[in-house]
Amino acid sequence: MRALVAGGAGMIGSHLVDALLARGDEVVVVDNLITGRRRNLAHLAGNARFRLVVADVRGDLAATRAAGPFDRVYHLASPASPRDFARYPIETLTTNAEGTRRLLEIARADGVRLLFASTSEVYGDPQTHPQPETYRGNVDPTGPRSPYDEGKRYGESLCLAAWRAEGVDVRIARLFNTYGPRSRLDDGRVVPNFCRQALAGGPLTLYGDGAQTRSLAYVADIVQGLIALMEANGLAGETFNLGCPDELTVRELAERVQAAAGCRCEIVTLPLPPDDPVRRCPDIARARRLLGWAPRTGLDEGLRLTLAAMAAEMCSHLLSPSQLAEPIAAAAGSGDHTAR
Ligand code: UDP
Repeated sequence: MRALVAGGAGMIGSHLVDALLARGDEVVVVDNLITGRRRNLAHLAGNARFRLVVADVRGDLAATRAAGPFDRVYHLASPASPRDFARYPIETLTTNAEGTRRLLEIARADGVRLLFASTSEVYGDPQTHPQPETYRGNVDPTGPRSPYDEGKRYGESLCLAAWRAEGVDVRIARLFNTYGPRSRLDDGRVVPNFCRQALAGGPLTLYGDGAQTRSLAYVADIVQGLIALMEANGLAGETFNLGCPDELTVRELAERVQAAAGCRCEIVTLPLPPDDPVRRCPDIARARRLLGWAPRTGLDEGLRLTLAAMAAEMCSHLLSPSQLAEPIAAAAGSGDHTAR
């Protein structure tokens, strides 16, 4: 089986590539490295079943197509951190629009399945808890998060249009918050931030009062869910939530990171970014029933693995952890934070 993984240099994408290679697949990654990193795939250098094509899915995909034909197309290409989609709003929208169209063309031409990695952000700031796939969401179409939310909603719509109008076998995975090794140190999301900050001796930056909730899935579990969704028969045109249903407040998360890192560092409060969802928790009954899938890695174990990988990366930068600590004043006042 030969798989194309768009966005395979990202955190989730690179773990997916490892899992596909481990089961004997050939894997071609296409990534423009705007937010993904070569480093995430560096351990695959010399693997004859792996190839990286550095290209933008919105542009010329001739080199990618030449590496085909493919049996499976995974589409994970998109900035996905609030910091990244604030920094790259146009790229976020167009990657999920034009990029999705081009990848659908490859899937149609090769007559194969395409899995689109969507997001819990399609539910916006939800008013239904937990969120089932049938919930239509509460999204601000013009707010600071809209490039990601609306880009993914358009991408989902486009995939289903390609299924209805052209018969492309598409499957949509709505990924809830996912964490694990290989996030960039400057990714900006809550787990990489708290882990990096804890390893540097603090402080941990809590946005708002920390009463907002998230549900955090470990990346290896999400990868198993993606493969299960791709490989199950009879699911063309279907949408699934993939995430961990254990909801906790962001303040509780800060305390769990402190405990996992063995540090009693300070927690400081910064302003809550605009449109920050108040609650988020997936209803995964559908994935349990039809895919036989559920996350298995507990939060403390996942944080331990994430902290270990991040500590190794910080050491490899030959910097002392304190040099990597984000200055609090800069974080509080930066466009990255406040423009979200
Ligand atoms: N958050 C925080 N401190 C940080 C980064 C994020 O308190 O250093 C909060 C953020 O306001 C949100 C939650 O953690 O309520 C998750 O944020 P993240 O950026 O990981 O992703 P989101 O779920 O908002 O897309």
